[in-house]
Amino acid sequence: MARLRPVASPCMRLKTHIRIVGLVAIGGLVIGLALLLRAELGLLREAREVVRSFEGLHALSELVHELQRERGLAGMSVDVADAQGPVVGQYPRTDAAQRAALDAGAIGEDELAPLRMQRRHWSTSGSDPLAVRGYYTAAIDRLLGRVAEQARDTGDATLRKALLAQSELLRTKETLGSLRALGARGLAQGEPRQALAARAREQLAVVEATAARSLETAHAADPVQAGRVDAVLVGPAFGDVREAVDALGRAPAGADLDAAQAWFDTVAAAMDHLQRAGDQGMAAARERADAVAREATAGLIARVLLVVAGWIGSCWIVLASLRRLMLTVDRLGRETRALLARLDAGDTDAGDLHGGFMHLVERVEHLSTQASTDPLTRALNRRGFEPLAHAELLRAQRHARPLAILLLDIDHFKRINDEHGHAAGDTALREVALLVRRTMRAEDLFARWGGEEFVVLAPETDEAAAAQLADKLRRALEQHDFGRPRRLTASFGVAQASTGDDLGRLFDRADAALYRAKAGGRNRVCRASDAPAAAEGLRLVHG
Ligand code: GH3
Ligand code: MG
Ligand code: MG
Repeated sequence: MARLRPVASPCMRLKTHIRIVGLVAIGGLVIGLALLLRAELGLLREAREVVRSFEGLHALSELVHELQRERGLAGMSVDVADAQGPVVGQYPRTDAAQRAALDAGAIGEDELAPLRMQRRHWSTSGSDPLAVRGYYTAAIDRLLGRVAEQARDTGDATLRKALLAQSELLRTKETLGSLRALGARGLAQGEPRQALAARAREQLAVVEATAARSLETAHAADPVQAGRVDAVLVGPAFGDVREAVDALGRAPAGADLDAAQAWFDTVAAAMDHLQRAGDQGMAAARERADAVAREATAGLIARVLLVVAGWIGSCWIVLASLRRLMLTVDRLGRETRALLARLDAGDTDAGDLHGGFMHLVERVEHLSTQASTDPLTRALNRRGFEPLAHAELLRAQRHARPLAILLLDIDHFKRINDEHGHAAGDTALREVALLVRRTMRAEDLFARWGGEEFVVLAPETDEAAAAQLADKLRRALEQHDFGRPRRLTASFGVAQASTGDDLGRLFDRADAALYRAKAGGRNRVCRASDAPAAAEGLRLVHG
């Protein structure tokens, strides 16, 4: 019984494929996790950005406040020496606000340079307070623009509204700062009182108009913050400002630094109130900003935990499934090897099964051989011979190689049967077959064509060589001692395949030659090409 194929290597291959699938799956999960974590960190960065933008805006608004103070103090001066003390006293506060804005990243060093130039300008050209004021106002205006811009850019909607309200409040305070500077300068420089009062009233109207507009915006953005600002505008501090504006017209003429200082303090108090209202609003905004950051961090932690848990779960499912698959492959491999060992041993039920199967295979092979073999002589029968002969003919024609056929018919066989009996005839037929087999080459095809008629198909053989083979056979038969009858002879017809031949035509030509051998006296070989009709230009296969 043939040994069966080992199963170890297919199992190893299968396990390698499972490992590859595992690696690809885990790799995909790692990439997925990395992408999710990256997206989450992006969200956290956005939240941090919101907080940073709040802090920057807060620092800017502080700086605006301090610059407004510095401008007011500088504006009071008649000449540099007059205001040197109060303005220089303000410097540390402004500087601290500048540093805070720098630290918060709300402003760059280069943007602070013009502010420093203002001071230098003021200390050298104090005689031109309007120019000094212009420098400060332009700087403050730029900062207010930055504040509004930063408020609008804030990512969180709630915080954005609060910061926009704060920006509006700073605008209102700026108009109030202008009023403060106008009065302080007028009083310090002894400007005519009626004219000064008229200008102050005009500026007050501007303050109130700006306040109204700012309040409208603030209300839409953050009603609580708007309420705080409203309280300042209708409260005592602002009432004091209105009174001070009215009092300007009644004051005696001439420069009065004390009156200027008192005016400055009154308006500054209102501005400080407004600043405090702003601080409260900013405190609320800070809470919101912190909440945004907290929510973002908490959300991030929760989502990351969820994602990591999901990731671990997925990995576990993949690995557990693959492990089960590997174990199954191992088990199947073991079972198959055991089964094969039993089949090889052949003494078990499995062996019986396999033995039965092999027996069946042998039977099928036997039957198929039987169907194509002559039982008496063991030569091929027509059914076995024809397909093989057909294939040989095609091969010879395709490669233009010679192919010859040889027909053998025992002479007067009927007589042998008649004189010695049918069994003796059968024995003689078997002996003839044996002799033919011994004489022909291994690659020649040999078949029993009819009762006492045989055929040999000889590849790579032309008609002359086939005639030689036939004659050799003829002599072997003639000289052989068959027992009963002692002697017998046979006649032969030989033909070579031509291009365009089919088996039928080749046979017909060999048969015609055989007929001539019989007619010519038997115990002889006739070639198809010797026939008169063969002269009609039959071209042999090998040319
Ligand atoms: P010829 O020389 O013209 O060939 O004469 P022949 O007698 O050989 O030819 P014929 O065709 O007249 O006779 C062939 C005989 O072969 C007839 C038949 O009884 C006999 N035969 C055919 N098959 C077998 C067989 O399997 N066994 C035996 N013993 N005889 C067979
Ligand atoms: Mg015959
Ligand atoms: Mg015969």
